[in-house]
Amino acid sequence: MAPSPLGRSPRVAILGAGIAGICMAIQLKKAGFQDFTLYEKADGIGGTWRDNSYPGAACDVRSHLYSFSFEPNPDWSRTYATQPEILRYLEHCVDKYGLRPHLRFHTEMESARFDASQGLWRLRTRDGQELEADVVVSGVGQLNRPSIPSIPGLESFGGTRFHSARWNHAHDLSGETVAVIGNGASAIQFIPQIAPKVGKLLVFQRSPNWLISKSDQEVGALKKWLLRRFPSLAALHRAAIYWELEARFFAFRQHSFMSKVFEQVARLYLRWSISNPKLREALTPDYPVGCKRILLSDDYYPTLERENVELVTSGLERIEGKGLFTQDGRRHEVDTLIFATGFEATSFLAPMRFQGLGGRDLHEQWKDGAEAYLGLAVSGFPNFYMLYGPNTNLGHNSIIFMIECQVRYIVQCLEAMRERELLWLDVTPEAMTAFNTELQQELSKTVWAANCGSWYKTASGKITNNWSSFVTDFDRRTRQPDWVAFHQEARPPALAAVG
Ligand code: NAP
Repeated sequence: MAPSPLGRSPRVAILGAGIAGICMAIQLKKAGFQDFTLYEKADGIGGTWRDNSYPGAACDVRSHLYSFSFEPNPDWSRTYATQPEILRYLEHCVDKYGLRPHLRFHTEMESARFDASQGLWRLRTRDGQELEADVVVSGVGQLNRPSIPSIPGLESFGGTRFHSARWNHAHDLSGETVAVIGNGASAIQFIPQIAPKVGKLLVFQRSPNWLISKSDQEVGALKKWLLRRFPSLAALHRAAIYWELEARFFAFRQHSFMSKVFEQVARLYLRWSISNPKLREALTPDYPVGCKRILLSDDYYPTLERENVELVTSGLERIEGKGLFTQDGRRHEVDTLIFATGFEATSFLAPMRFQGLGGRDLHEQWKDGAEAYLGLAVSGFPNFYMLYGPNTNLGHNSIIFMIECQVRYIVQCLEAMRERELLWLDVTPEAMTAFNTELQQELSKTVWAANCGSWYKTASGKITNNWSSFVTDFDRRTRQPDWVAFHQEARPPALAAVG
């Protein structure tokens, strides 16, 4: 990065070149901030849409909404875009908005320490480089570190094993006996893809999920033409999807009428799709719809009825060689073990270390569960912002729009720094506490608080990942910073003079 441009625009370090980092960079550029760098640990952009390249990887939010509002794509090929198409869209954004010169690949941030006297962050990369930035924006999100369960004997497993987010494309599954652990959003997408080619497929299900039809289809040439020719029609189409999904939030309130409707729809779909009553029973959840992510698929249930597919519901006890032993005493001999076991979603920002004012440690502060102000700032950590941070995940709408709201807010904070010659901005402890008290009260009324395990909450049950309300509400709250919620530290004249 260039030497400290005090008195000019802050230097911004963006961590991660996924959707969030790219969105941040584009809006910084649009607002006239030129001194920013996107640090990415991998060798390419795309984040989750780069990592998750498993067969059948696709989005379960409709394409015409799952894109930046400022960069509509009339040419989406399907109702639900596939991973390669989303990645191509993100590459297009990077090129169109001239972000390539700002990208630094193979740069994984290890730690960040706030230097209060200078009002800057001192960053250290995993390979030992020391960097400086006035502002740090994390775009690493919630789902970037695969979670592998600790199963006794796993290290001794004699076959091939990998995680769905680190798919081993070099390994041929043809004719093999394959075990998949997990049956969440990732598993239900690749299981139908691999089932026809493997010899035998064992699906280890710890708990069933509510699932409804996806009704995915190709977008016809006429629709593409209309969306391209009439941008206002494209905007209307996008808005219609947004409001339809937004209305679904009613189903996430505990005991709501909408949640009962959703449950009936899911039950009917299960009854219609699965003829075997025992299998149907094993696939019926015992918790309210929405408590875990609602799954969308047209081919998962039919795949489970294939001759070569078995749903294993007895818990996995231990592994010996190529043998997987379940609690019912059975031994399953497998060639390949695929973990579809999700991500370390509640360990926000780990394994990076952040030290804020007075040397306070962010993970120490978060030992009872991560929290932030509007999901994007933490008191005591000035000039540090998060995108898709604590309590900004959704179960019903597009996360990209949530990210756009956060970016809009952060850009305004940076503009205030630039215009008011501030050394730093730090959300007050009072504002943060008031926000989180209200947030947790609201969350306690949602289905996520019900009796199910999910990546939305910590082991002790604190919901750290999801936003408590409608996206529209988040949009309203993040339109403009409430400056009363921030301590604004003026830049001392001595420092200004140095600049
Ligand atoms: P996930 O939803 O966290 O599912 C993990 C699965 O692994 C669950 O079935 C879980 O069972 C099981 N599991 C975890 N630990 C286990 C253990 N020790 N023993 C047995 N089973 C275990 O992970 P994911 O499927 O990768 O999806 C994560 C999130 O990524 C999704 O919720 C979604 O937000 C996102 N995603 C999105 C899309 C999209 O289309 N937009 C696609 C894929 C993923 P339990 O349910 O019993 O815990």
